[in-house]
Amino acid sequence: MTDIPPAILPPASFQQRLLDWFDEHGRHDLPWQHDRSPYRVWVSEIMLQQTQVTTVVPYFERFMARFPDVASLAAAAQDEVLHLWTGLGYYARGRNLHKAARVVIQEHGGEFPVHSLEEMAALPGIGRSTAGAIIAQSTGRRAVILDGNVKRVLTRMHAVEGWPGRPAVERRLWALAEHYTPDERLVDFTQAMMDLGATLCRRGRPACERCPFEEACVAHARGDERRYPESKPKKAVPTRTTTMLLLQDREGRVLLEQRPSSGLWGGLWSLPQFDDIEELEAWLATHASGSELASAWTPFTHVFSHFRLEITPQPARIGRLDSVDEARCWYDPCDPASIGLAAPVKALLASLEPFSLTTTAGP
Ligand code: SF4
Repeated sequence: MTDIPPAILPPASFQQRLLDWFDEHGRHDLPWQHDRSPYRVWVSEIMLQQTQVTTVVPYFERFMARFPDVASLAAAAQDEVLHLWTGLGYYARGRNLHKAARVVIQEHGGEFPVHSLEEMAALPGIGRSTAGAIIAQSTGRRAVILDGNVKRVLTRMHAVEGWPGRPAVERRLWALAEHYTPDERLVDFTQAMMDLGATLCRRGRPACERCPFEEACVAHARGDERRYPESKPKKAVPTRTTTMLLLQDREGRVLLEQRPSSGLWGGLWSLPQFDDIEELEAWLATHASGSELASAWTPFTHVFSHFRLEITPQPARIGRLDSVDEARCWYDPCDPASIGLAAPVKALLASLEPFSLTTTAGP
């Protein structure tokens, strides 16, 4: 392989090529690009972390219709916020969004501290890059971003070796991002960097023939674009198993439990979970005597970033339940309450017919 030294373009040349490309091919009509208040930019940036634009747009619009400003978000119950987040995944983002709204109201008088990168980055769920994006996009002031899209472009342009999560690699990428960031047109420049990464310098098949950096890109010159950025060194992904109780009453309602506020599906509502069928039967014998078990449904797997969860749904019809405390509720699939549901639970409930104890299919 030819050893091509990393080509550092003069910043002015980089900016000119990028902005010319953006003016013609960039995205100019995303809902958060009109009325770029810090609040709207912030919500969009959080939703866009790990999620594609086309998925985010309808969530963003529903969210803005219900929570048009930071005060309405801060005043809402966490359940309602997570309900609007259901399906977007990575629920810590929704919980942090809600927490940060309360911090903005209580500690910053309802205004985002966009005058200070440090204060923005200290809000729950906002790191250095997101803070930079919110400042640049909502105020037009100079701030540097380094999100996943920008990392991909820069690692490829400069053939940066090593996983970007390693501190030394990350420092190098921040230095490159700093080098290229202009003093003017910050709104367009940050959007252009994100657009280039999302639409041309894609993870799978980059469209180098349309890229304004085609001649300057080291990975492209080597024909080795997909080598960058390097992946995180892999650990074996473990599989855990769980049995979920689908306990229905005579009206077809299903018993749900609220998860603890931190950890897996924190704060969301889920089906009662057990390590195995014996533990489930023991719980029923103690808390819901006389309940009748049906055949278990076919197990299915839900994949998390760090493990796989094999879920066996176990339907049962209620006998007599001792009590339903605050952390439990009866959920009516025909008249669903506005609560945040764990994604596989939502799918299970959607596949449930009233009095479906004989159903054997999974979601
Ligand atoms: S030339 Fe290709 S690999 Fe290089 S930055 Fe452009 S799209 Fe990415």
